[in-house]
Amino acid sequence: MIEIYKDWNFPDTQYVRQKTEKKQIVLHHTVSGDKVDGDTSWWLHTPERVATSYIISREGHLHKCFDDEYWAYHLGLSAEHFNRFGISYHRLDPSSIGIELDSWGALLQHTDGLFYPVTRQNGKIVPNLKCKPVKNIYEYCSNQKYRGFQYFDRYTTAQLDTLKRLLHFLMEKHRIAANYKSDIWNATPRALMGWEGIFAHASYRQDKSDVHPQVELVNLLKSL
Ligand SMILES: [Zn+2]
Repeated sequence: MIEIYKDWNFPDTQYVRQKTEKKQIVLHHTVSGDKVDGDTSWWLHTPERVATSYIISREGHLHKCFDDEYWAYHLGLSAEHFNRFGISYHRLDPSSIGIELDSWGALLQHTDGLFYPVTRQNGKIVPNLKCKPVKNIYEYCSNQKYRGFQYFDRYTTAQLDTLKRLLHFLMEKHRIAANYKSDIWNATPRALMGWEGIFAHASYRQDKSDVHPQVELVNLLKSL
């Protein structure tokens, strides 16, 4: 068993209440601020069945949206994501469990020296000054940027501790091996073929930067 901080108990119009065999666990981040309520209310107010089973807040609180034996759309894959590897399109959402870490993801430094979440303005990626500056920064070396970004919202220790417990729980319950390899930080045929393991959203899509390879997260995944 794993301790759930809050069970949101999503209505079955917001996910697919069909039990499926799970082979993959996929890590995302939400691109949002401190509260989990914003993420869940967004999902609950859209007609699409887009969600993940779990969200982990920055305090390390585990939020459950729906039971991990069922599924929802969380990968956003189309034929082109598969075609570039010569793989034919097939659905992977039913056989994967999604976990979100609450995080802003990529950040940009403004001329005031502070770090802000990013937004798109006239086709350009710029700091979003409508957001509060982010304090908990993870910095990549300038020659080792991830997906073109040097700064990210840092996943917290509490968050990663909860993630580790959750991964152990899910790996045992669904008999999934971690099979960690460093290819998961880019789109990889292993993910798109539906092979067993723990992946990032970025393992399926080159246009995604969740989750980013913060060294503590890499070490966690290697340790499983
Ligand atoms: Zn994602």
